[in-house]
Amino acid sequence: MKNCWLTLRSDVFLWLTQDECLIYNSNNHKKLSFTVNDEIRKICQQLLIPINLYTVEISEISLEEKSVRQWIDCIIDNDAGYLKPCSNTIKPISLKPILKIQDSINYYTKKYNEELAGEIIHNLYELTFYINGSEYGNNSWYKQTVFPLKSCQPLDIQKLFGFIQNAKSNFLSNINLSGNIFLYPDYVSLVEEICNSKIRFTINITIQDFEDNIQRIKEIQWTDNTQFNILIDSQSDFTLISLDGLCINMSVTVLVFTEENYKSIIDKLDTLPVYRDAQITPIYNGENFDFFHSNVFISKSEINEIALSKREVFMRQAINIYDFGKLTVLSDEQVFANVNMNPLGSINNSMVSLIYKEFTKGQSWLRIRDQKPCADCIYQWLCPSPSNYEIAIGKPNLCHIIE
Ligand code: SF4
Repeated sequence: MKNCWLTLRSDVFLWLTQDECLIYNSNNHKKLSFTVNDEIRKICQQLLIPINLYTVEISEISLEEKSVRQWIDCIIDNDAGYLKPCSNTIKPISLKPILKIQDSINYYTKKYNEELAGEIIHNLYELTFYINGSEYGNNSWYKQTVFPLKSCQPLDIQKLFGFIQNAKSNFLSNINLSGNIFLYPDYVSLVEEICNSKIRFTINITIQDFEDNIQRIKEIQWTDNTQFNILIDSQSDFTLISLDGLCINMSVTVLVFTEENYKSIIDKLDTLPVYRDAQITPIYNGENFDFFHSNVFISKSEINEIALSKREVFMRQAINIYDFGKLTVLSDEQVFANVNMNPLGSINNSMVSLIYKEFTKGQSWLRIRDQKPCADCIYQWLCPSPSNYEIAIGKPNLCHIIE
C-alpha cells in the first residue's frame, strides 16, 4: 500500500497519555483504548496538532508495521476515521473537537467592566434555601446532599423572596427549600408566595416532619409548581403511612450508609407503592469507606458504558456538572456555590456580584478533573465531574482505575 492520509472524524476525541491512547467516537459512543508504542504515539501527536486538521500522512513502511496497521483497522472498523491514498487525492480535512467556551471568564470580566453584567445571571438555574432547621436534621449531611440542618434560626422571608427577585432570570427553573416548612414563623405567607410563583419549588422535608404535618398538607391547595421531596434517613426509626387521597407532587430520597442498611430499607419501602421509586443517595459518615469503595467508586466496566455527546464531553472539560448554575443560601444568610467551599457573600449582596465572584475567584462551578491523578488519566473527560463525595472522603478520584 502506498502512503495514505489517516483522518479522524470531527466527532471523535483522541486522548493521549504517557502509555495509552483513547479514541472516543461521540456519535456511536464506541471507545478504543490502546497501549501506545513509539510509532503510534508519533502519529497521535501529529493528529493532535490543530493545523494538521486531524489528518496525518502515514508512510508505506508504517502501514506495513503490524501494530500500526491493527490500530488503524480498529479506527476504521469503529467508524472513528478513514484512510485515503495520498496519490491523486488532495489532503482530507477534519476539525478536531476543541472546546470553545463562549461564556468564558474573560467574556464576563469584559461584560462586568462594561456594566452589562446582567447576562451573567443567565447561568443561574437553581437556588437552595435552608429556611430553618428540623429536630430530625443533621449538621453534616447537607454537605453531600440537600438535607435539613438541626439549627432552627429561620431565614427572613423578605430577604428570601428579595433574593429570588434579584435573580430575575428566565433560566432559573428550580428552587429548593430545606427545613421544616411547618415550623417556619411566616409559614402562611411562605406557602402563599410558593403557590403564586411560576417557578418550580421543591420542599425538601424529613419523613418525620412530613408525617407529623400530614393533616396540614391535606388542607392546602398546592399548585402544580410545588413538589415535596420526602427525605428518609434509613438509620432512623420512622413509620411509613399510606398517602392515599393526598393530591401533591412528590418524590422520595433515601439516605443509605451500609449494604445491610440498603437491603433493609428497600424491603421496607416495597410495602407501599408510593415509596418504590425512591432515589437512593449514599452518605459518607467517616466509617463506611468500604461501602463507598464497593458501591460508589466507578469501575472500568461502568466507564465503558458511559455514552456522552460531544457537547457533554465539552461540559466536563469546562464546568462542574453537579455545581454549575447553583447557589445555596444557609439560614445564617451566607451564600455558597458549594457548601463545602468558602461563602461567596451574603443574601444582601447582589446576585450579579455573587455569580461574578464564583466565575472569577470561585472553586465550585469550574471544578473539573484537572488535578492529579485524573489529569494523567485517559478517562479524564469521560468521568463525571468531581462530586461532594470526593471532598467528604478527602480523595480526588473515587475509582478502581487508579487506586
Ligand atoms: S483517575 Fe480520575 S479520571 Fe481516571 S478513572 Fe479515576 S476518577 Fe476517572
